[in-house]
Amino acid sequence: MNLDISKKTGLSLGFGGMLILMAALFNLLNGSALLYISLCMILAGIVVYSFGEYTGELSGIKNNEVWFKSVSSKGVVAWILGFVLTAFYVVIYWFPTYLGLNRKGVNTGLVAFFDPLSFALNGHGASQWFVYGTLYTVAILGFGVKFILKYRHSNYQIIRTLSVMFFQLAFAFLLPEFLAKLNPDLDYFAKDLKNMWPLNYYFFEDWHLKAMLGGGNLGMFMLFFGIGMIFLISPILTYFFGKRWYCSWVCGCGGLAETAGDSFRQLSDKSVKAWKIERWLIHSVLLFVFITTVAVIYSFLINEKAALDPKLFLVGVILFLGVFSWYIFKIGYKKLALDARKGIYWASGIISAFLVINMAIGNTNVFFIDSYTLRSWYGFFIGAAFSGVVGVGFYPILGSRVWCRFGCPMAAILGFQQKLLSRFRITTNGSQCISCGNCSTYCEMGIDVRAYAQKGEDIVRSSCVGCGVCSAVCPRGVLKLENGRVEI
Ligand code: SF4
Ligand code: SF4
Repeated sequence: MNLDISKKTGLSLGFGGMLILMAALFNLLNGSALLYISLCMILAGIVVYSFGEYTGELSGIKNNEVWFKSVSSKGVVAWILGFVLTAFYVVIYWFPTYLGLNRKGVNTGLVAFFDPLSFALNGHGASQWFVYGTLYTVAILGFGVKFILKYRHSNYQIIRTLSVMFFQLAFAFLLPEFLAKLNPDLDYFAKDLKNMWPLNYYFFEDWHLKAMLGGGNLGMFMLFFGIGMIFLISPILTYFFGKRWYCSWVCGCGGLAETAGDSFRQLSDKSVKAWKIERWLIHSVLLFVFITTVAVIYSFLINEKAALDPKLFLVGVILFLGVFSWYIFKIGYKKLALDARKGIYWASGIISAFLVINMAIGNTNVFFIDSYTLRSWYGFFIGAAFSGVVGVGFYPILGSRVWCRFGCPMAAILGFQQKLLSRFRITTNGSQCISCGNCSTYCEMGIDVRAYAQKGEDIVRSSCVGCGVCSAVCPRGVLKLENGRVEI
């Protein structure tokens, strides 16, 4: 390993900062100054190392030993890193007391170490989620600088990375904390700005709906803004720009994958088998969250004796599924494969049958399973185990977009919109392609971009997050991300 002075300085700073955190975890160190010093050291360490790594040479992908370095080719280092990340997520989700969280008394360890920053931002002591959010933001900022240095020849990559860094820092981290400080008596809705179902899968849960309905003007704004995002703003943005407006410009999960996960993007499986698993898995998660949400809203309407008649709500769901299936049958059929169309018809038919039976017999639990049980299953298997533990813990083994590719229901919905309605596509100038394969190698979503380029075919794939890295690493300028009207 060739380490010049800036890389050695960067590594020393980064590991020094992490050592301070480890010492705090075991209650060996404390104090606000040390907290800020450790966070600055980690951030500075990543930035200084990246300057050493990228500024002395031309920008872009070099394939420099990417398949020979242990960390980037599923070697021992990658497995150790994957194990550490996975263990960290398991502790965060299910054993936060090991980090020092004390719900009934005074925090200790790492959580107590973050108290000063937490008090400064939101007026309360830290939780494990505050620790996690802070480190997550530091990672996106630090590795965001690394990404910009690496792809500095591409304005698209520079602006896109600045965008994810901004959204993580301002909208996902600072603003919710400030809102929590300004509204200490309001429930959680006022502190969470990623207010879009199904990313925010508890958007329609009873406690969240009640909190918004009882939260005055701010609550009503969040309710209507959230609904507007789902049915209006998001489809319009996806129509014009593709799902990239969210998946690779705004989303925190995508932000981490693009920055901290960049070293692992080549690990995404490009096989047809992986593609088949991807399609079934991600749409099963979407189905799961849809069913859970219908059940939860129905229970809410019954239990709260709300103005909307629960049966009318079920009729609305059946109508929605009917219109969607009809659209696929009449118009969208050209763009979806037969198995996908069959899956939509079957799922819509079975769900509608359940709802009709339910209306006939007046069951409280619309799918014959308690809606709270369904909700807790979703929260455990998808919200925690898949999106957190597997989604990030497995970066060094399965690539950086495991969650976005195989599990995120938001990505599935935006993918439908992208495939069926959007102007976005990647155009290819096939005659210039030299079949080097850089584009396919570095596509984090496992798309075989080269196959399209060789045929000179436009790429319109529901899974494409529009990161543009395929285009940035192409030595021949074959690939172009476009939103303009499609000429027929
Ligand atoms: S096809 Fe290109 S733009 Fe789309 S996800 Fe893959 S690398 Fe990113
Ligand atoms: S499109 Fe560009 S990166 Fe992809 S195989 Fe062809 S020349 Fe290589």
